[in-house]
Amino acid sequence: MEYKIRFKQGFSAAHILNMDTKCGRIHGHNYEAYVELISEFLFNGMVADFIPAKDIVKRLDHKFIITKNQVNEIDGDVVNITANKKDYAIPYTDVIILDIEESTAELIAQDIANEMRIAFPVKSVTVELSETENNTAEVTL
Ligand SMILES: [Zn+2]
Repeated sequence: MEYKIRFKQGFSAAHILNMDTKCGRIHGHNYEAYVELISEFLFNGMVADFIPAKDIVKRLDHKFIITKNQVNEIDGDVVNITANKKDYAIPYTDVIILDIEESTAELIAQDIANEMRIAFPVKSVTVELSETENNTAEVTL
């Protein structure tokens, strides 16, 4: 037997890609994450508790998503970054630093899926992440 749960959680976040296109300028998205967890076992009658599962997505809400390779230094309350050959100083409270190469929808979805795998002993996790209603990436771990 296999159990499956699915939920949707939106978040708004800013980011900059390390490329010389319009995505290399600060901008943001109203992201929608669709998360599916599959397990052969139930824990307290659940595949996973929706509340901590949604918190994994919500930790990105109203944050500036920074990749580890964009960080030059963390100077007290300020994070100094270089993205697309431009330097920025951003309050530490406003950023979330992800261990991914680029803050693309594919890799943000992968980060969410990784965190789900760490938090819940499930068989598989699928994360579908929409940047806009027309652009969506999906990853299964
Ligand atoms: Zn973008």
